[in-house]
Amino acid sequence: MGLQEDNRHLEDADRKYIWHPFTQMKEWEEATPVIITEGRDSFVKDSYGRWYLDGVSSLWVNIFGHRKKEIDEAIKAQVDRISHSTLLGLSNAPAVELAEKMVTLMNASFGQTQVPARVFFSDNGSTAVEVALKMAFQYWQHLGEKQKRSFLSLNNAYHGDTLGAVSVGGVAIFHEAFGPLLFPTYKAPSPYCYRCELGREYPDCGLFCADKLEEIMKDHHSELAGLIIEPLVQAAGGMIVSPPGYLKRARELCTKYNILLIADEVATGFGRTGRMFACEHEHVIPDIICLSKGITGGYLPLAATLATEEIYRAFLGEFKDLKTFFHGHSYTGNPLASAAAVACLDIFTKEETLSNMLPKIALLDDWLRNMQALPHVGDARSRGLMAGVELVPDKTTKIPYDWQEKVGWKVAYHARDNGVIIRPLGNVVVIMPPLNISIENLGRMLKVLRDAIISVTA
Ligand SMILES: *Cc1c(COP(=O)(O)O)cnc(C)c1O
Repeated sequence: MGLQEDNRHLEDADRKYIWHPFTQMKEWEEATPVIITEGRDSFVKDSYGRWYLDGVSSLWVNIFGHRKKEIDEAIKAQVDRISHSTLLGLSNAPAVELAEKMVTLMNASFGQTQVPARVFFSDNGSTAVEVALKMAFQYWQHLGEKQKRSFLSLNNAYHGDTLGAVSVGGVAIFHEAFGPLLFPTYKAPSPYCYRCELGREYPDCGLFCADKLEEIMKDHHSELAGLIIEPLVQAAGGMIVSPPGYLKRARELCTKYNILLIADEVATGFGRTGRMFACEHEHVIPDIICLSKGITGGYLPLAATLATEEIYRAFLGEFKDLKTFFHGHSYTGNPLASAAAVACLDIFTKEETLSNMLPKIALLDDWLRNMQALPHVGDARSRGLMAGVELVPDKTTKIPYDWQEKVGWKVAYHARDNGVIIRPLGNVVVIMPPLNISIENLGRMLKVLRDAIISVTA
């Protein structure tokens, strides 16, 4: 078969056999899918040989781009030893090595005491969150605080797609359909300054959203096992950057009201915000931290939930006490994924990733400031190398584009025609390039996005 027939076959077979995530398949079937066949550094190539800049790090995971030599080699070397063995009743060397490395990282980021330093592995962000919720719930049960079994989460939060994670989520368009299946939770206002649901303005508000958070805690702390929060940036909710001091207040309130702070750093972890973990920016130490996405550099599915020693110790007891944490997945601690993660974490030191991000963060910040002047850019916000540009038809009223207009998608398609792949969140254009993207490629990407936004909103 020639390239043309090969491609026709792939496209037809995709439309015929695959059910794509978060996708209206009727529309998908009517269009021609872009099929990626290869990647290199910050670029991916489609089946016709066209290269694109990977502007969202393949859904926020490929933090070092594609075909990163060190990770390629680590996986190949591990394949020659063993590809999978279980952590149920056994252990394996790469999982041990990774757990040790992660705890070292936690200590470097947060200090030596009371940091989350017990590693529970799973395989995706949603399961990392499920694990955190179950741990927090059971922790209080073991302490005899039987009524502490509810959770507090934020409007616009996204913690994954499994039912526990959806229960603590707050993005209506993703979550409403499953309402009857969810457990009830308390919801606090989203720290979303551009569209403050309390009608206040930062900084005059004095963090009124945190006061509201406190109100809920004050009334319900006796029932609350934990507060789950995406530190600094509510990512899938629309790259919503919380005002300075909000996270710190949340930590203080959790301590004051004896509620566990669960930091979902699935999106923000591993350098994305310019520090290893977003919590570091406000010197906040969570009780439980959920990590996934960037952990293997986007090579293999892996996640980790880390809890403090204090939480861990509550689960210790005699076999008959049934204090065991009854949770586990078939691929928990998969050796290939663990080996990839070890190699990925080493790159941060070897390439001084975080300090090399600084000029790129500065470039992105400059660009966002300029974008803010455009007639249809309502808000341009970022933290580190994660950014969102929120488009509005009218900046004075801030009334959003009708979601059915798919203005974000129009920008994405325009950008794709010009060699840049992005994926919007509603009316928010998302920028999440690999952390090691060159400054030239970042500049190029931002130019394409600016042109796309101007042309689509004209
Ligand atoms: C992506 C994401 C998740 C879910 O991760 P999956 O691997 O897609 O299950 C959870 N929390 C946050 C903050 C995320 O960004």
